[in-house]
Amino acid sequence: MNKKTNGAGGLDLTRIKAICFDVDGTLRKTDEQYIGRVNILLAPLRWITRRDTAALARSIVARFEDPVNILFMLADRFRIDAPLHKLVEIANPWKKRKAKPDYYQLIPGLLEALKLLAAHYPLAVISVRGREGTQNFLKVTGLEKYFPYVVSGQTAKRTKPFPDQIFWVAEQLHISPAECLIIGDTTIDIKAGKAAGAQTVGVLSGFGRQGELQARGADLILPSVSDLPAALGLT
Ligand SMILES: [Mg+2]
Repeated sequence: MNKKTNGAGGLDLTRIKAICFDVDGTLRKTDEQYIGRVNILLAPLRWITRRDTAALARSIVARFEDPVNILFMLADRFRIDAPLHKLVEIANPWKKRKAKPDYYQLIPGLLEALKLLAAHYPLAVISVRGREGTQNFLKVTGLEKYFPYVVSGQTAKRTKPFPDQIFWVAEQLHISPAECLIIGDTTIDIKAGKAAGAQTVGVLSGFGRQGELQARGADLILPSVSDLPAALGLT
């Protein structure tokens, strides 16, 4: 066996049989695009106060992400997630410019990392977004070939922070959910991973702050997914 048994932060490498990635803030820099758009809307405020609004735009978008997830969680609970997904697909910001490959900004070093990781583990994508948007993102960016398992907000009964999407991946692979490694930028990802009994890695390339990811119980915090191969002893 040429793999190490202990990874960075005390990850148990022998337990990992699959890696599941969040999309926004983990594989792609979605959040920066949203922040840019919100900041454009704040132009009048900038003019009135003569102050930079970039930090304010960032905090507005950061607060917006959780309510969306909470909305889906409630929709799951009240069994109205199907019509909600339809609504989100219609109003989907991914939809408008989906034909342009440069619309999606990937995390620097992502492709190199995925090549290494895919050579050693089956990889999955787990998103709370709809099927169409998630598949389109993978297709347009050419990431499709790295992810044989794609879990959208419509795949499992409930979405993150519930563990159902991780259970779905484990079922497809005939492994235990505890054998999955969950990678994500928010506490929602860590919470879902913990609920599944999986090991979790928080990345600081999105919205999550080191302190809150740690408090939620992330086994390891990395600057971004590009640092993952080294943390798993693959480089
Ligand atoms: Mg995310």
